[in-house]
Amino acid sequence: MPFRPRYTGVIDRYRDFLPIHEDTRIISLGEGNTPLIRLHNIQRELGKEVNIYVKYEGLNPTGSFKDRGMTMAITQTVNAGNQAVICASTGNTSASAAAYAARAGITAFVLIPDGKIAQGKLAQAMMHGAIIFQIQGNFDDGMRLVKEVASHAPVEIVNSINPFRLQGQKTAAFEIIEELGRAPDYHCLPLGNAGNISAYWLGYTQFYQIGIVTTRPRMCAYQASGAAPFLRGHPVENPETIATAIRIGNPQSWDKAWAAQRESGGWFDEFSDEEILATQKLLAEREGIFCEPASAIAVAGALRDVKSGKIPEGSTITCTLTGHGLKDPDTAIRQSTGPVIKVKATLEEVKGAILDHLV
Ligand SMILES: *Cc1c(COP(=O)(O)O)cnc(C)c1O
Repeated sequence: MPFRPRYTGVIDRYRDFLPIHEDTRIISLGEGNTPLIRLHNIQRELGKEVNIYVKYEGLNPTGSFKDRGMTMAITQTVNAGNQAVICASTGNTSASAAAYAARAGITAFVLIPDGKIAQGKLAQAMMHGAIIFQIQGNFDDGMRLVKEVASHAPVEIVNSINPFRLQGQKTAAFEIIEELGRAPDYHCLPLGNAGNISAYWLGYTQFYQIGIVTTRPRMCAYQASGAAPFLRGHPVENPETIATAIRIGNPQSWDKAWAAQRESGGWFDEFSDEEILATQKLLAEREGIFCEPASAIAVAGALRDVKSGKIPEGSTITCTLTGHGLKDPDTAIRQSTGPVIKVKATLEEVKGAILDHLV
């Protein structure tokens, strides 16, 4: 059995492509290196000749892609001598900031919206010892506050307006190219604050410009209908969706996302909460892959666009599953139709119940 060097995270792995000095002390939890899983059952039922892969980012250390960016942001700020970071968050950024700040031995302040945060994400921020401010407002209010506070207090912003976040997150595009041996034809992903689409485009473009690949994918990004500023063409006042990770009305990387769409020849589209939840269930039931609601919208988009012919047969499509389904157990349990059957703890009863289900 040949030995393999221990995997130590995206900065070590992609150091040559990141703005990082050789003697920098790296804060990592082994993020990245997530599986690219080919859809089997869903694809067969689709009846179209396409290759759909999902990049399962829910398997990062804190359960979302945010870790790729956070290792860069926290590493940079610690090496600059800073002692505290701050972010506004719908949940995953705060979970990630809290964990990496704990690892670095610095303080994380997180602003979360009142009541609209998934339980798993809140639990993470609490466990990692972040200082949590629950504001009477939504993510956009939190983001505005964070930007104001950061110019009045010694705290570094680790939202995706921090350029180091995008640098780290672009490594997901590198991994996809390495595994496919080429760039995909289409890349589908959810669109919230618009950091991730910008980061992927940065990554695909970098490998394209170096000459590692000869093509770049069309970037296809999807929003929840109740929180779809890119579809409306302007910020949305009171964004609402069950997919709390993309419940954002005033995306910070607005221009970068439009540039990615335009330069790549991709598009934006929207889905209802019902469609989002149906796709989350489909992935869980048919492929054994549990992602959070916001993530499922990427696959909803790919499937709809393949069915309509907008994405032609013969295409290779990658979808980012941005966060793990365990982040939001309440939404999962609430929408589950599968019965939990109460039985007496006897062989007779359990056997009877099993046979009932096999006929
Ligand atoms: C942050 C996040 C998004 C949105 O990404 P942006 O970079 O804000 O567009 C989507 N899904 C999940 C699970 C997230 O945590």
